[in-house]
Amino acid sequence: MEIRNYKAADGVAMLERQPGGLKGYPDAEKWCKEAEQDGLAFTVVYEGKMVLCAGIVREREGVGLAWALYPTDVGNYHIDPRIAKDRLRGLMVEHNFRRVQATVRADFPAGAGYLRYLGFKREGRMEQNEPDGTDSFLYAIVRDKCLRCGKCCHFFFYGKEGITTRTSTKCPNLTKDNLCSVYNHRPDWCMSARQMAELRLLPEGCGYRR
Ligand code: SF4
Ligand code: SF4
Repeated sequence: MEIRNYKAADGVAMLERQPGGLKGYPDAEKWCKEAEQDGLAFTVVYEGKMVLCAGIVREREGVGLAWALYPTDVGNYHIDPRIAKDRLRGLMVEHNFRRVQATVRADFPAGAGYLRYLGFKREGRMEQNEPDGTDSFLYAIVRDKCLRCGKCCHFFFYGKEGITTRTSTKCPNLTKDNLCSVYNHRPDWCMSARQMAELRLLPEGCGYRR
């Protein structure tokens, strides 16, 4: 199995293999080219045959729309779904997406199941959203609240009248990637993000701050 950068020609070839060919997609070539220009897409090739083109279209700063094209007989190929999952997460981090969303027809439970496998969560129903008037479901992946700034793992100085000051001294258990090296065995004095939020000790920008 090979994963390569997506090219517009891949998308066009994939649409040609859909029932009805390119006829059902009047703006196909333009759309396929735009998807290539964004550089946010990939193609999976299995035994010399394209089996998946997928990617993200940037809708606005930090928010993207996931898309995927696959042949109708995709079930005959044993593609490990982790490939798409890892690649999608990688693109989200690399290109700073805080949210990627996707819609799926309400009468296509297999598609919804695949989105769930990829980590998408259902957010609601979009009535009559499809071209033929069928409802859709809206799904999204929202990035974790923690941006790994590591600031909650800097020691604090407790001053007079309860005023606390964050020092530049980091906890020795904090790795250079701002992860905790003893997460499952943290010492008693280590506070959870929730406790820190209650005490208003979290920095601006932290997703756990209230
Ligand atoms: S301060 Fe918030 S964003 Fe930063 S590492 Fe801690 S939990 Fe994550
Ligand atoms: S023990 Fe882990 S979570 Fe607690 S302050 Fe240190 S690095 Fe952070």
